[in-house]
Amino acid sequence: MVRKEDQNCRNLRFSIHPTPEQEAKLEETMETCRRLWNDLLSSRVELFDVYGLYPDSRLLEKQLKFYEYTNNIHSQVRLNVFERVQQAYFKFLDDIKNGRLKGSKPKRGTFVKREDVPVGKLSYSIPSKNSSKFIQYDGILPRGHPKFKGKEGYHSFTYKQYGNGWKLTGNKLFLSKITSKNDLIKIDINNDIIQGRPKTCTIKKEGNKWFAFVTVEIPDNPGPIIPVTMIGIDLGLESLIATSDGEFIEPPELFREAEKRLAIEQRKLARMEYGSQNYRKQKKKVNRIHRKIAKARNHFSHCLSKMLVGKYDLIVFENLKIKNLVKNSRLAKSIHDAGWSRIVQHTEYKAAEKGKTVEKVDPKNTSQICSVCGKKKKTKLKLADRVFECEHCKSSLNRDINAAVNILRKSKAYKDTVRLAGINGCEVGTTTTSSVTGLQVPTMNQQLLNLVQGRDFLRVQ
Ligand SMILES: [Zn+2]
Repeated sequence: MVRKEDQNCRNLRFSIHPTPEQEAKLEETMETCRRLWNDLLSSRVELFDVYGLYPDSRLLEKQLKFYEYTNNIHSQVRLNVFERVQQAYFKFLDDIKNGRLKGSKPKRGTFVKREDVPVGKLSYSIPSKNSSKFIQYDGILPRGHPKFKGKEGYHSFTYKQYGNGWKLTGNKLFLSKITSKNDLIKIDINNDIIQGRPKTCTIKKEGNKWFAFVTVEIPDNPGPIIPVTMIGIDLGLESLIATSDGEFIEPPELFREAEKRLAIEQRKLARMEYGSQNYRKQKKKVNRIHRKIAKARNHFSHCLSKMLVGKYDLIVFENLKIKNLVKNSRLAKSIHDAGWSRIVQHTEYKAAEKGKTVEKVDPKNTSQICSVCGKKKKTKLKLADRVFECEHCKSSLNRDINAAVNILRKSKAYKDTVRLAGINGCEVGTTTTSSVTGLQVPTMNQQLLNLVQGRDFLRVQ
């Protein structure tokens, strides 16, 4: 469970590499947290089921320290488990109140006894009732009720405050009660990503891998700067990005290799007997490739957005939401679009940090208008047509570059700047048409590849 970010917070994900001893402690902490979650939930259920009470949060929080087995975890981690239970429970009650969970209203005396977890010391006392009799619950909970977590059901814990239980020193991570002074956990941190003040750190296990999710508070963004360098971007169908400067950016070939590999392994999986030993093994393999691809896509998105923001003051995209309303959506394409949305998102926040502007424009007609004369095509350009031929001014352009130029021209910030500076708008974007014929080396692509290939992030074995 990852905390929701507020507006000027960012959640960053890093791989961590604990030693076997550290990993044992991470597992131990996870297990303590899971047990605490179950116990806290039990006490809530019991208070309601037996006594009909919705207890006071502050009272419950005070009782936390009586769960003695939690002494092996940091107090802030413990507090976070409590907050998660509270949050989940309040959401449940809220859902009932707002009619989202019809028929789920808990009735007293209907909860089933829970036996898997040994009876802990329940720490509240209720006058006039026999508080020495502890009941724990499991099984049949109303729909929407927070669930008790089994061994495989609890995956993360959180240090709530930087400097209070967790700390970063270079590429080393200190976690109170887990690492010792001379034995910190190695973390794959890219220092230029952390630009704000770290706040929370959530340790999460995904498959066999461990990750640290670090929330960072971003300092107030600088005021917007007047754009000098501007670019329009067409997010194409074929994983291809065309820019109004006449360049194409292509995701590394490695993606395609990994995707092919994934398809092969998935076909193998489909042929196996569901649930068999081999099936489970293959499933793990498929999941591993999935994770690798996801990681690589994320990395690519960061590199691309970083490069765009480094080079341009104004970056204009199509509004993908509107675009999707127009185009038919296939599954593959929607996955594809999720990648595009992430690129736009990453570019947006990186730009905001530098006072630069990202604008999203209505994609309507951007592929049907001639970027040289500004007139709309008489005969509609089909998806298969790669070249835009204008019947009015006889220009012949690459369709995606033409669209990218139109996208830039649609931007309000672009129009304002052109008007203020008195530039002839037509010159922007059409100056590098030589690249359309393939004469120009796509420098952005090269830069991007250099950024991306700095790490061997896509070795699928
Ligand atoms: Zn024309």
